[in-house]
Amino acid sequence: MLFKNYKNCIYCNSQNFEKKTNQSNESNFYLDAIVDDLNISKKDLKKIKTYECKNCFILQNNPWFSEKIAKKIFSNIYGQHNRSWSNLINFLKKSKAPDHGELFNLLNKLLKVKNYAEFNSPFMGIFLNYFAQEYQLNKKFYSNIYTHTINYLSSRQVAGKNKNLQKKGSIKSKKTLNCIKFFKNKFKKKKRINKYLFIDNSSLAWGQNDNHKSVNSKSFANEMLDLEILQLHEKNKVKLDLFGIFHTLDHTMQPSLILNFALDVSKYVVVYCHVNEQVERQHLFSLTNNFLKYLNKKKIFTFNVTKIINKKFKTPELYFICTKKKNYKDRLKKIISNEKKFNQ
Ligand SMILES: [Zn+2]
Repeated sequence: MLFKNYKNCIYCNSQNFEKKTNQSNESNFYLDAIVDDLNISKKDLKKIKTYECKNCFILQNNPWFSEKIAKKIFSNIYGQHNRSWSNLINFLKKSKAPDHGELFNLLNKLLKVKNYAEFNSPFMGIFLNYFAQEYQLNKKFYSNIYTHTINYLSSRQVAGKNKNLQKKGSIKSKKTLNCIKFFKNKFKKKKRINKYLFIDNSSLAWGQNDNHKSVNSKSFANEMLDLEILQLHEKNKVKLDLFGIFHTLDHTMQPSLILNFALDVSKYVVVYCHVNEQVERQHLFSLTNNFLKYLNKKKIFTFNVTKIINKKFKTPELYFICTKKKNYKDRLKKIISNEKKFNQ
C-alpha cells in the first residue's frame, strides 16, 4: 500500500479539515529520490492534497504515504538527514554554529541552563553552541575531533574481515579514543551542562540510517557533545531547564505527545519549524503561525520570537518559546518585551 488516508488531524485528532486552494507541485531532491526509488509517477504524487485543520490550524497532507513507506523514505531512501550533518560539518570546518540568529543569546538572558535536552536530530539545534562555549575554539582541535570520532566509531566495523584486520581495528579504536579524550581534556574551558537527546524512533524521523562515513549521527553526537541518549519512557531520570525541538516536531507521528512531554519535563520549550503555506509532499504535516493560537487556548503560554532574533530566513520558518508554568511565562514575557524595546 503506497498511500493511506489520514482522516484525523495528526496533532489534535479533529476531522474538521478544509482543502487549501494552493497546492504544492514543486519538486525537490527528496521528492526526486522518492519517485525514483518507489517507482511511482508524478501523477501519483499529485493525488496528495493539502488540508488545513480547522481546530488546531496545522496543515496536513491527505492521502499520504503509509507508515511502512514513510519509514522507507526516512530510513532507506533518504536515510541521511542532510541538513543536520551539514550543520555539523560546517561547524567543525568553519567554526560556524547553525544559524538561529540571536536565539542562543536570548535563551541565555532568559535563564541559566544546567540541564538541556533536544529531540531526535542532534545537529539541528544549539548543542553545537554549548560545545563552542565549553571548549576552546581551535582549528586543529575541531578537525581532530571530526577525524578521530569518525575513525573511532568505524574502527570496529570488522565483520567479514580476517583476524589480523580485526586486531588492527581494535588498536585503532584504542588510539583514536585516547586522542579524543586527550584533545577534549586539553581544550575544555568550563564546567559542562548536562545534555540529553530524546528519541522516539518515529517512522517520520531520520534515525537508524542517519549516517555519514558509516557513522550514525546519534553515536557521533554521544561521543563529541557529551550527551546522553534517552528514550521517552526514561523521562523520570531528568528535570530540565530547557528543551529544544529543532525541525523535528513535524517529523514525528505523535507531535502532541512530544510537545506535552517536553513541557512537562522542562521549564521552557523552544520550537523551530517550517511554516510554508504549501506543504511539500515528503512531509505529512506542517505547523503554522496560527497553531500558536490553538496552544494558547490549551493553556500553553506561547511566544513567537521569529522576528526578534535577527535571523535572515530563506524559507518561511517559525521560532517559538513556550511553557505551561505561569511564573516562567511572566519571566519570558519580560525578557521578550525588553528585546523588543532594544530592537526598535
Ligand atoms: Zn488539528
